[in-house]
Amino acid sequence: MPNQSPEALSQNLQKLRRFIENRVGKAIGDYKMIEDGDTVMVCLSGGKDSYTLLDVLLALRKRAPIDFRIIAMNLDQKQPGFPAEVLPNYLEKLGVEYRIVTQDTYSIVKEKVPEGKTTCSLCSRLRRGIIYKTASELGANKIALGHHRDDIVHTLFLNMLFGGKLKAMPPKLVTDNGDYMVIRPLAYVPEADIIRYARGVNFPIIPCNLCGTQENLQRQKIREMMADWDARYPGRTESVMTAIQNVVPSHLGDRSLFDFEGLQAGYADAIPGGGDIAFDTESYDTESCETPVLGDEAQVITFGAKPNP
Ligand code: SF4
Repeated sequence: MPNQSPEALSQNLQKLRRFIENRVGKAIGDYKMIEDGDTVMVCLSGGKDSYTLLDVLLALRKRAPIDFRIIAMNLDQKQPGFPAEVLPNYLEKLGVEYRIVTQDTYSIVKEKVPEGKTTCSLCSRLRRGIIYKTASELGANKIALGHHRDDIVHTLFLNMLFGGKLKAMPPKLVTDNGDYMVIRPLAYVPEADIIRYARGVNFPIIPCNLCGTQENLQRQKIREMMADWDARYPGRTESVMTAIQNVVPSHLGDRSLFDFEGLQAGYADAIPGGGDIAFDTESYDTESCETPVLGDEAQVITFGAKPNP
């Protein structure tokens, strides 16, 4: 059963849950994702990621030194075979506040998009609008999404390889209409751990292919590429995620981020990341495959402090 007390879980699962909670707590603290008085709308799709997100946020809220409200939200897009009773049953048992929004975006997408063309862009645009409207109705100022570390890393590669941009998926950002803050509390959590956790607690998973659309082919390729790298050199996905938080603009080439034109000799120490090392190459410990990691299991969850009265 999901959201069981830690004591009711097996020892391994308890350890895994602690690890995930610690990583989520660290991400929330690092990016100040949740503050006292927030109303967080957690978008629940019925997949492993969003179940894990809700489960962990509820557990962390019990221990957090701040008060915030959690409302689970699901959009039933009327995809064929969507088991509409699964999420309400789950959420009722959990005793969490929730809102199920039913809107037949599936039919709109089928009607508007010609056969054989990709439906995702219209579908997600419609979904985004409904999510914002629901957040407004519920008085939510934060929208929590279940994207995890691997999603963020894969998005970075997709944008680099197919979009010509060094851009990933941020742990926290305002929405495109400027009204809400989107947060991704699973930003530091590896997908493999979410898979193991979701299996262990037996979430009532709803299949994610009901709309009949296949996963984007390029994303699938990136996923395979990173899985291959991680198998051969463990820790690569973690290293890329660390790199995303460790940007050195002077060693890239974006003239809007670093003043290459105005650069003067004589100030190497003032350059974050140091001056140029000419023909020397950086050295890496490729033997041990060690990589700087994000947080560890011993970390205490301390995100958010109560504001001074
Ligand atoms: S995969 Fe299906 S549900 Fe998801 S955005 Fe694309 S069309 Fe919509």
